[in-house]
Amino acid sequence: MTVDLVVKNAIVVTCDEEQTVIQNGGVAVSNGRITQIGESAALEQAAGSARNVLDGSGHILMPGLINSHCHAADSLFRGLVEDLPLEPWLQKVWTAEGAILNPQTSHLGSLLGFSELLLSGVTSTMDMFWYPMETVRAAREVGMRVSTGGIFFDGPGVDGATLDDRIASAEAFFEAFAGADDVFPATMPHGAYTVGPENLETARDITDKHGGLFSTHAAETKAEQADVEGRYGSSVIRHLDHLDLLDERTTLAHCVHLDDEEIAILARTGTTVSHNPMSNLKLASGIARIPDMLAAGVHVALGTDGAISGNDLDMWMALRLAATLHKGASQRADAVSTHQALGMATRSGARALGAADRLGSLEKGKLADMILIDVKRPHAVPMFDPVTHLVYSTAKSDVRHVFVGGEQVVRDGVLTRHTLDDTLNAVAELAPRIAATVA
Ligand SMILES: [Zn+2]
Repeated sequence: MTVDLVVKNAIVVTCDEEQTVIQNGGVAVSNGRITQIGESAALEQAAGSARNVLDGSGHILMPGLINSHCHAADSLFRGLVEDLPLEPWLQKVWTAEGAILNPQTSHLGSLLGFSELLLSGVTSTMDMFWYPMETVRAAREVGMRVSTGGIFFDGPGVDGATLDDRIASAEAFFEAFAGADDVFPATMPHGAYTVGPENLETARDITDKHGGLFSTHAAETKAEQADVEGRYGSSVIRHLDHLDLLDERTTLAHCVHLDDEEIAILARTGTTVSHNPMSNLKLASGIARIPDMLAAGVHVALGTDGAISGNDLDMWMALRLAATLHKGASQRADAVSTHQALGMATRSGARALGAADRLGSLEKGKLADMILIDVKRPHAVPMFDPVTHLVYSTAKSDVRHVFVGGEQVVRDGVLTRHTLDDTLNAVAELAPRIAATVA
């Protein structure tokens, strides 16, 4: 078997179940998968015949991060609407989106968002947006894996689609990407307050038919809880549970406002919660009960949400907040451990994608989605524990190299497949029109 790549001399943080760390180690990769992982000395034979050898000295090698909730193309609207609570904020955002978005601008925005994510070490993203085919096109151009699919939204929405259009395009999406290893097809209704029960069930039926994923916003604000309670007589999570929408293929973004019974429902059904601490803080939504969810056995993954509520797509910030915010809020220093936080950004994200068998950790047989982080930096020394460094002091600009399926998609902090300047120039050209939407 030809060895395509060996990375050696790195500090390997595998993020496996045992939280294995190898102080001087690396991996060998063939056909996009990890064929060997261990001490550098044990990799010498593979390195001797490898097509490509990367010296990882001065770097941490770890699995690529998995962003479990994003709207990459919304990066076009970064900083446009500020300091409003979710509901009036959404009205302004939808006005701006309606004026600007079409397949071309969605593609441009997705390129912008995915470039930022990939450069910062995110190798897979769950992304909900109006033109999912364009989302996939952009992800493939930069070289990132993506979970997306037909969006459901009662009324015309930004794309002006009818319900029949939405059903047809959701079906077509599954047919287009059946069997793809870089796309995890899903249906993505916007939320229980914007999509009625019948259409939620329709979205679910489509994804069930194809064995896909299901993701929606849920229990983000108190106002949303009151809205859903008023319409359907039960809280958001109970409502979704009554409709039989919760299981291990479902990811719910936010889940900020939950009672104990709702947490128990999420644990019982195996639903993944995507925790988006930056978005929840900035939109004044609240602080999710993550320590209680973890204690109850809920699977918690991590997300950035869109850059209009962020204002960037920084999984390292999300990671640091996941490990610090709940300590402050609960006044318990053990509220969320570094290993729990790192697990949210890696293994739990892989589970949310239905890909725990091939993503989320560096292990023999898994896909070679991996990143190298420069630790020859003043904020990285001394480094007594690499996991502590990753969670509490790594910045996205520390990410030097990124591999997806063994292919190097970021080299020395530069995208290899895509010319970033083209995207930046196109966004600059569009910016005056975007600004005019709220003028
Ligand atoms: Zn969102």
